[in-house]
Amino acid sequence: MQVNRQLLSEYARLIVRTGANVQPGQAVQLSIAVEQHEFAAMVTEEAYLAGAKKVNLNWLSDGQDRLHYRYADEETLSVTLPWEEEKLRQMTEDLPVRIFVESEDPDALAGLDPEKLSHVRQRRAAVAKPYRDAIDGKHQWCIAALPSEAWAKKCFPDCSVEEAMSRLWDAVLSTVRIGGEKDAVAAWQEHTARISEKSAWLNAQHFTSLRYESRNGTDFTVELIPEASWEGAGSVNQENGAYYIPNMPTEEIFTSPRAGKCEGTLVAVKPLSWNGQLIEDFSITFRDGKAVSCRASKGQALLEKMLRMDENACMLGEVALVPKESPVNHCGFLFYNTLFDENACCHFAVGQGFKEVLPDGDNLTTEEATARGINDSIIHVDFMVGAEDLNITGFRADGSSAPIFRDGTWAE
Ligand code: ZN
Repeated sequence: MQVNRQLLSEYARLIVRTGANVQPGQAVQLSIAVEQHEFAAMVTEEAYLAGAKKVNLNWLSDGQDRLHYRYADEETLSVTLPWEEEKLRQMTEDLPVRIFVESEDPDALAGLDPEKLSHVRQRRAAVAKPYRDAIDGKHQWCIAALPSEAWAKKCFPDCSVEEAMSRLWDAVLSTVRIGGEKDAVAAWQEHTARISEKSAWLNAQHFTSLRYESRNGTDFTVELIPEASWEGAGSVNQENGAYYIPNMPTEEIFTSPRAGKCEGTLVAVKPLSWNGQLIEDFSITFRDGKAVSCRASKGQALLEKMLRMDENACMLGEVALVPKESPVNHCGFLFYNTLFDENACCHFAVGQGFKEVLPDGDNLTTEEATARGINDSIIHVDFMVGAEDLNITGFRADGSSAPIFRDGTWAE
């Protein structure tokens, strides 16, 4: 299907101006699939029009990735070459605005040796981590998505390619608020203001723990970090004060819970796509803050592996609130992409937490953040628990409580 050029350029502008908020003189790093070269040119031009000093491209290819994993050996793929590491190091100097346009086929790596995939990713992520940590909070970034035929067919396997593309385009544009009655920039201002209002309310409550209950078996309590804040929609680059929106779409308000302090069972309400494979109908049970058991009707071994990716992959890094009225939820299908699926309803993530939710968190070392309760792991994987009847109650240090969610949405 042919999306008209005007909508596309409106989208490119929204990503560059409202999402990444590129400032004059900044370097930009755009990661995008080779197949999307036309949209890449539009984003590049918008970035220059916003005053970017230089836009560097990081071309991605599902097909090439698949070939590498199929033919190259694990050791070769696991090694980060000196020039690759130099590229990472350069980022800590240039602090480029990073724009990621996702369009990958959720099945791109299906059928490949999952052991090999996770070993390679583990070792590469370990090398990249100190550089990632060093730019944390010091640059703007934005992840958005662009439909591709393989992705569309994955979402709508029974439709023709044209029909599937048209449905995925409609969904993507509606969730990023383009093509509605309101101008997209104005719609985003209104949307982010509403999220800020809710997060301000949560921050004023000083909840120390949350209790989750729903009829599907979710029965769970998680401890919060008292000084950690709830955040949503936008972030601020501490270097230049630029307000940016890391994810488009975004519906969530999130914080990092205290790692190692939760009890009970969380039952997933949507399948989880991880490393190109699906985990379905699953639940995870925590004791003393760690996942001690899990059950899945499909992908049991994969789920167990995920929770063992490193020492702390079995602990929580994120708790996020999303009302069931989310436009992503209204789309009513699985996107097989976390950017969308995590914005459908309430969720948790196992693995890495966000040190920036702590006051002055951006300046903390990983060790300091860990000491204050933020989980540290090479993975961060979201899973959805926002059942239609989910109740969430907040408890304060003095024992008083207040309803946060009732029947899957804000209590008031
Ligand atoms: Zn999230």
